[in-house]
Amino acid sequence: MRFLCLFLLLPFLPACGAPKKEISSPIGSSVNLSTGPVVVIDAGHGGQNLGARANKPYCEEKRVALQTARLAKKYLSQLGYHVIMTRNTDEFLPLERRVEIANKAGAEIFVSLHFNSSRNPIAKGIEVYFYDGKSSHTRTAASRRMASFVLTQLIRRTHAVSRGVKSANFHVIRETKMPAILVEGGFISNPQERAKLKDPDYIDQLARAVADGVDQYFKKVCTGSGSILPQRKPI
Ligand SMILES: [Zn+2]
Repeated sequence: MRFLCLFLLLPFLPACGAPKKEISSPIGSSVNLSTGPVVVIDAGHGGQNLGARANKPYCEEKRVALQTARLAKKYLSQLGYHVIMTRNTDEFLPLERRVEIANKAGAEIFVSLHFNSSRNPIAKGIEVYFYDGKSSHTRTAASRRMASFVLTQLIRRTHAVSRGVKSANFHVIRETKMPAILVEGGFISNPQERAKLKDPDYIDQLARAVADGVDQYFKKVCTGSGSILPQRKPI
């Protein structure tokens, strides 16, 4: 019943669908009949594109990103969202294809998951990016707001250093048409942070935080309380 108010508000919410649970088929296989808001989770890199990496302990960005993405999908699905992953295996995927998946799906939210690297081994912390598109103030404002919700949850759960919400001209958050963010969930180049990224419990906290932040954004922005989305007049 937690989404009852969303159902009641549906006629006023042009950009927001109401989350529904996935339904299991009688033979037990999970059939995704969810008509909840479509969230695209994009695990960065993949295949021959390893992303950031470091030794002792050995850590590859593409693997940590996929681990986090799979768990974020699990938690968002539990909250009633229809989650599409740009990749769910260790495959190379061009940036254009990631954008195409999100735009063709008509996704309402796009979240790209990455991990950071620096020549400075003491650089650490989490930052979340949005694209500051001058031609779409609504999308920019929504993306910035979602970035803020997600970063707050990430810091709350991990107690990592907050490097803030930042704008950047990254392809996947520029070319997608829906509110979009790119999470840099910690520095693989920092030995202490890298050790945490090898801990499944820490990755679980990152994924839960992404799901919670997206859910908070969706509820606060799409239910009209403090809404920054254009409101449609009732028919
Ligand atoms: Zn990356």
